[in-house]
Amino acid sequence: MAKEQPVRSGHCSMKVIINGVEYVVRPLSWNGGRKVYRVVKQEGDMPVYEVGVGNGYFCNCLDQKRHKPQGGCKHIKALRALWLI
Ligand SMILES: [Zn+2]
Repeated sequence: MAKEQPVRSGHCSMKVIINGVEYVVRPLSWNGGRKVYRVVKQEGDMPVYEVGVGNGYFCNCLDQKRHKPQGGCKHIKALRALWLI
């Protein structure tokens, strides 16, 4: 039986469910204190968001840009809840 090789490619992603909706989350960069993830909604026209932390938490969704909800938009809250950012 062949010995299983460790994963070394770095090609991976994860699925995160936010309010019952599935998103695919993939790390884009992790540079010093700045982490960025690409978050793709798996419904509708599959919008793509960039969510991360650097000089504060950020997301390019309309809710975060227009309303700046306390604690961040649902994408920020979800990635924070999972300790990704
Ligand atoms: Zn957002």
